Amino acid sequence: MAEMVEIFDTTLRDGEQSPGASMNEHEKLQMARQLERLGVDIIEAGFPIASKQEFEGVRKVAEAIRECRVAALARALPADIERAAQALENAAQPVLHTFIATSDIHMKHKLRMDRDQVLAATDKAVRLAKRLIPRVEFSAEDSTRSDWEFLVEVVKVAIAAGADVINLPDTVGYTTPTEIRDMFKYVIAHVPGSDKVVFSSHNHNDLGLAVANALAAVEGGARQIECTVNGIGERAGNTSLEEVVMAMRTRNNIYPYDCRINSREIVPSSTLLGMLTGLAIPYNKPIVGRNAFAHESGIHQHGVIANALTYEIMSPESVGRNRSDLVLGKHSGRAGLAKRSRELGYDFDEAQLDRLYEKFIDLADKKREVFDDDLRMLIVRMLNEDFELYHLIEVDTFGRNPAKALIKLGKGGETFTDSATGDGPVHAACVAIERITGVSGRLETFEIRATTPGKEAMGEAYVTVDFSGQVFKGKGASTDIIEASVAAYLDAVNKYLAYRESAENGITLRGM
Ligand SMILES: [Zn+2]
Repeated sequence: MAEMVEIFDTTLRDGEQSPGASMNEHEKLQMARQLERLGVDIIEAGFPIASKQEFEGVRKVAEAIRECRVAALARALPADIERAAQALENAAQPVLHTFIATSDIHMKHKLRMDRDQVLAATDKAVRLAKRLIPRVEFSAEDSTRSDWEFLVEVVKVAIAAGADVINLPDTVGYTTPTEIRDMFKYVIAHVPGSDKVVFSSHNHNDLGLAVANALAAVEGGARQIECTVNGIGERAGNTSLEEVVMAMRTRNNIYPYDCRINSREIVPSSTLLGMLTGLAIPYNKPIVGRNAFAHESGIHQHGVIANALTYEIMSPESVGRNRSDLVLGKHSGRAGLAKRSRELGYDFDEAQLDRLYEKFIDLADKKREVFDDDLRMLIVRMLNEDFELYHLIEVDTFGRNPAKALIKLGKGGETFTDSATGDGPVHAACVAIERITGVSGRLETFEIRATTPGKEAMGEAYVTVDFSGQVFKGKGASTDIIEASVAAYLDAVNKYLAYRESAENGITLRGM
């Protein structure tokens, strides 16, 4: 049997640190359930000390997820570690992940600690973590810019203190495949007892090398890869889960390892994440981008029709694309809707099903065929209604420039109506929302895409909105593009309001 590489998914922690991509605790929970279906080994759910909302998110995920380990991040500080352990209290298989920087530049300028102090802090942190949670991962932040001899010393201390997993991250996306492979070989060869722990690689994509570096780390002896769906994450993002998994599967002769991922859940996971975060997937993104399997030139099409292997190194079906998506229509009925929702991973009670059915019929009236992605969007929207501060009930616009908009919003059983004028219908609607919510934002980017096929396609709107310096993304979908745009703006408003409510002390903490 092939040696296993564990997939540590940090979409909900590092991924969520993508500029503007915040998820509330209920959105995190939906994504966590999908990650469980995808078959990741570990879900890193968040950084509990960062905020109250973050703590709640980790707690909810830890309670709900049974099939994967759930990790929480903590700096090498007692308060962080205790808070993380508290958030993991009800996890079936908790992992406490603690980190401290080991590069000279981080120790000197960020930590203001010398090497001995870092060694002592490592020992203390790992011992405390191990006392609270049976499985501990230790990360030497900025490993790839650390002195290798010192890295060996730190890892020795962490293992002696009880660490089960040793992660050597490329925090700033600086390393190269050859260098990282050699680093893992060096550390593993020089640390006594290195065979008793799992070595892990965490990479950033600043030079576009994250996936290549993760694979090279595996060649060097790492047996855990930290990654995110769609490669989202700080700055240029993290190792993309779908790319690294499909590289191992497609080139198994070069990378003779296996992992638990059910690759057919890759595209559904990617789509759901896009819906929850409002981060659009680039068309040319490997594996999950719209064009990743599009064979547009005539020659290619001819070849693919004759034999798919001529131009396809993997099949679209293997990553969950172009599956014969069960299409629902108006006559599919409540039972059909319930069945399909269950297959997509949602178990609704009767009341929820009634609400979903109402929305479904409404959509099926406008759009004869309802695809899985349409249904996912309806579900995401319905679940959000329960938790969002505001949801869109109705928008009517008149005229062009100036345009007038009439907006009706709901919030916890109450409804609010207001109208405003603006330069164009979307602007007018945003002004009306501003009047109701008291929050004013500046629209920075605005993009419309058609999603599912058909003449009555759903339009998706993606916006980036700046609320006095804090930027949030929003996404909306509808068969009507004005409605989709307004919903996207409101989504960003809700994210900002949730952030404002939970931001404690005004400090934003960053993980490694
Ligand atoms: Zn990171």
